[in-house]
Amino acid sequence: MKTALVTGAARGIGLATARQFLEQGWRVILLDRDVPALTEAAKGLDHGQPCICDVSRPEEVQAMLAEHFPDGTELHALVNNAGVADFGPIEETDFDRWRRVMETNLDGVFLMSQACTPALRAGRGAIVNIASISGLRASTLRVAYGTSKAGVMHLTQQQAVELGEYGVRANCVCPGPVATKLAMAVHSPEIIAAYHDALPLNRYGTEDEIAAMITFLCSEKASFVTGQIISVDGGFEATGIGLP
Ligand code: NAD
Repeated sequence: MKTALVTGAARGIGLATARQFLEQGWRVILLDRDVPALTEAAKGLDHGQPCICDVSRPEEVQAMLAEHFPDGTELHALVNNAGVADFGPIEETDFDRWRRVMETNLDGVFLMSQACTPALRAGRGAIVNIASISGLRASTLRVAYGTSKAGVMHLTQQQAVELGEYGVRANCVCPGPVATKLAMAVHSPEIIAAYHDALPLNRYGTEDEIAAMITFLCSEKASFVTGQIISVDGGFEATGIGLP
């Protein structure tokens, strides 16, 4: 049985991804720092194993590694999905706020990927990092969030270049807006309306629509796809217009 590790799996896009892996016969480690949400999410998921860990804390990542990936363990998919949102312009983003975003969105992807690299090499696995359309297009509101996600895109290409010789692929998915807890905390009614107008498909995406691309990229069907940054965004990138 193939094993996937999904971070931020207690809800939203991560939980939908874990469910799709399970439906496709994978064993899944659902990792999250939100204990009640993860406990609830893992209920009734056969072959789903909850793992409490904050991806931004090196000591917790090392403890996760020791528990789940003893030497020689194979990992076939790592989905770095855990993320936090922040909408703020440069002058209102103090350093603590900037660090809070970077620690989860960028440091967390680095720490998890580095920790899992031996197991990914052993399993000739795939990495999928979740960035955002906010990392592709600058806007007046997303100095920390957008910058963190642009970093995730470059880190993905580094991974693809460095790990290709071991049969490890790395790709990045940039979702457009999806009505999860993360998005709804920062999307005002005005932003929601503007997104509906801006997207050629005139609607938000669903968690399952993002998860479908993630699980495809981890599958054998994507065996020659690596180093790619793929938007799943209802056509937003094609419009060339600014973020709401
Ligand atoms: P969500 O808030 O529903 O879920 C995120 C999960 O990550 C939560 O369960 C949370 O507890 C967990 N998490 C956060 N920080 C963590 C940490 N340091 N360690 C471990 N777990 C942590 O969010 P979502 O909308 O499903 O977002 C998933 C990913 O998709 C994020 O990286 C986000 O930036 C990205 N994204 C979302 C949207 C959107 O519109 N929803 C758009 C573009 C990109």
